[in-house]
Amino acid sequence: MANTLQNNLWALTRGYRHRFAAAVGAMALASLLLLSVPLIAKYALDVVMQDGLASGIPLLSRLAVGIAPEHPLLGYLSASGVLVVLVTLGAGVFHYLRGRLTATASEALIRRLRTGVHAHVERLPAAWHDGMDTGDVVQRCSSDVETLRVFFSGDLVEIGRALILVAVLLPLMFWLDWALALVAVALMPVIFVCAWVFFHRVQFVFKATDEAEAELTACLQENLTGIRVVRAFSRQPFEVERFGGFNAAFRNRYQRLISLMAVFWSGSDLLCSAQIGLVLIIGGGFVADGRLTVGDLFAFLTWVAMVIWPVRQLGRILTDAGKASVSLVRLAEVLDAALEEQIRSESSGAPPDRPEALRAIESGTRRGAIEARSLTFAYPGGAPVLENLSFQVAPGQTLGIVGPPGAGKSTLVRLLLGFYDPPPATLLIDNVPIEQIDRSVLRDQLAVVLQEPFLFSRSLEENLRIGWEGADPELLTASMDDAALTETVAAFPDGLATRIGERGVNLSGGQRQRLALARALLRRPAVLVLDDSLSAVDAHTEVHVLERLARRRGRQTTLIVAHRLSAVRDADLILVLGQGRVLQQGRHDELAGVSGPYRELCRQQGLLDDEAVVGPAAREED
Ligand code: ATP
Repeated sequence: MANTLQNNLWALTRGYRHRFAAAVGAMALASLLLLSVPLIAKYALDVVMQDGLASGIPLLSRLAVGIAPEHPLLGYLSASGVLVVLVTLGAGVFHYLRGRLTATASEALIRRLRTGVHAHVERLPAAWHDGMDTGDVVQRCSSDVETLRVFFSGDLVEIGRALILVAVLLPLMFWLDWALALVAVALMPVIFVCAWVFFHRVQFVFKATDEAEAELTACLQENLTGIRVVRAFSRQPFEVERFGGFNAAFRNRYQRLISLMAVFWSGSDLLCSAQIGLVLIIGGGFVADGRLTVGDLFAFLTWVAMVIWPVRQLGRILTDAGKASVSLVRLAEVLDAALEEQIRSESSGAPPDRPEALRAIESGTRRGAIEARSLTFAYPGGAPVLENLSFQVAPGQTLGIVGPPGAGKSTLVRLLLGFYDPPPATLLIDNVPIEQIDRSVLRDQLAVVLQEPFLFSRSLEENLRIGWEGADPELLTASMDDAALTETVAAFPDGLATRIGERGVNLSGGQRQRLALARALLRRPAVLVLDDSLSAVDAHTEVHVLERLARRRGRQTTLIVAHRLSAVRDADLILVLGQGRVLQQGRHDELAGVSGPYRELCRQQGLLDDEAVVGPAAREED
């Protein structure tokens, strides 16, 4: 993981490293200029308290004589004051440059990271999403990215500043007086080690705090999504208590973090004061002995105060670095997860010379034949959900799939959509194993209306055009007609421009299904898949939709998963699934004519009145 992390960090800064380097450079120049202020003050003090202009900076001494020959001391002090102002101004300019460079680099870098993580999440396989809490993913995409932003926008350059200050100040102090220089840095390693130990401690606490926050967010997100279920089952007290539990866990971990921080800050405060006190006591003695001037001591004290702050800040910076490294690991976990096309290309071993059938699919000249060959499938870590499934649907035909809940009907649909990978060469489209077809090409061929259609909180038209962004208005109208949606849309005051609430909350179940159906029809797919998607429409609308679908026979293969047999009655082939196996397959008349689960379903749904479909053998049994 460490390697991946470093690679990610290195890769992350690609394109912006020169800006960060320039920012560190600007920061170094600003710091150097500011470091010279105590030096100017030291010489000014020496001029006043030692041997007059002879102890000053020669250039300033000459200038003092030039500008105020009668009061050279005053002239020296004035020149020093002006120099301090100019130096501080110069430092301000470099600080500004540092801020600008860091801001543009870090913001651009974080924007790229955010976009990259989001794009990656969009392309991760369904199995990955199954194993993740949505709240946790949201947290990674938002607050973990924000933690990195804080690190890059300030801390990275601050680390550079601390290192430069130490690198420049140490030689300066040793140049002035090696013994006091040793005293001046005596406690700095202790301060740094304390910060380092603290950094290691907080890494774990931060991870725990982050996880607690993710659990809290996930709980809130699930609660809000399922707010109607919570209300309907009067689960508010339970959910409030559950949220309270996560909240308490988060608070406990955060409190632990804050306690650790408090210990660190007060401890390091003490050490910093002790360090300055040491310099004052021993340096004062040196001044009394005449080993040092008052100016020297002043410079020492100021430099120690200047360098001790960044060294101490290193504690905070390393804390942020701790948070940032945790965030980076969490983001690396997302970015390292294999994309669905990577998994597929590793497992499929698609031959480099693409067979003609595959080329036909890729070029869009598709036909829509579907075949399963002894298809057995289990979700990751689970028992087989589909077992030894075999069937064939010719292009343009309609396949009906019926069976009790949990029989594996939707699983078959998910496999067809490429959400999960079946064993090689067990599921084929137009004679090409599905794992060899690029996911985007595959999904171009298919349009699906899922059991629980998802609608976006956009306008009706925008939701429809998800099927085909650039479809002509005539095609849009035709699809709405086929899905029996035209009158519904006309009844809305704003027609197609009507905005629907989140997940289509202000539409009825049947309206949502018909909208999703129109969206799929608009796509003009080679294969249309309806996963129990007419369950919420009335019988009259169902007949209308089925009639319209029948008109597309020959041009479009249709897969209808249904509990109501009326939806599959006219299918060319009906599969009766039970516990993942094909119990029966055939046409409605054939299946209804023999005893078995299909006939039982017909009886339950009152379809056996139609004597024409019941064969003599079955009548005898009845
Ligand atoms: P229904 O008619 O109720 O929609 P179905 O026939 O479509 O049922 P599937 O959704 O295919 O049934 O589910 C078949 C089995 O697979 C069930 O036992 C279910 O628990 C399991 N299953 C479904 N989705 C997953 C998943 N993502 N991970 C693990 N198991 C799953």
